[in-house]
Amino acid sequence: MSLSIIHFPHPTLRHRSRPIVRVDAQLREMAAEMLDLMYKNEGVGLAANQVDLPIRMFVANASGVRGEGEEWVVINPVIDRPKGSEAGQEGCLSVPGLYAQVKRPKTVRLQGYDLQGNEINKELDGFLSRVVQHEVDHLDGVMFFDRISSEAMRDIEHGLAEFATTFDSLRSTGSIPDDAELAKRLADWEAKYT
Ligand SMILES: [Zn+2]
Repeated sequence: MSLSIIHFPHPTLRHRSRPIVRVDAQLREMAAEMLDLMYKNEGVGLAANQVDLPIRMFVANASGVRGEGEEWVVINPVIDRPKGSEAGQEGCLSVPGLYAQVKRPKTVRLQGYDLQGNEINKELDGFLSRVVQHEVDHLDGVMFFDRISSEAMRDIEHGLAEFATTFDSLRSTGSIPDDAELAKRLADWEAKYT
């Protein structure tokens, strides 16, 4: 299969994903495709929602470069133990070109599983902590601009409106299916993996 990155305001970005209960060859292939897409688009993280899949999985590499830094594929991530607070710039492959300062906890604990079923349990800080919090937000249907000040929102709202115009136009030509068709696709994936 061939995955592609969906852009705001595609409804799957607002879908709260369910935990994965089965890992098979297709799921591993999808994780590999997500990593390809992330590196190709010069991102540092990509959540399954962003490729129109309603499952709790994300990929990340804070270095943004294949072969450098630490590469993550995390299934059913849970973050807790937030400590501190720090503002930092964020962007998103689902709204390319738009950036804003987002305030988040400085450190968090990440728990989850890798593709081999090994448990992940790690305290994260620095940029990786921010990336992981951003990706887990996606799995809950949350975009980074849901967490910014109204002043910062004014700086990007024109850009967001342009994405909305593009989305409407892609829908009117049938390039993006209607809500009923999208919901059916999500339900099929959920039946298979959640
Ligand atoms: Zn994002």
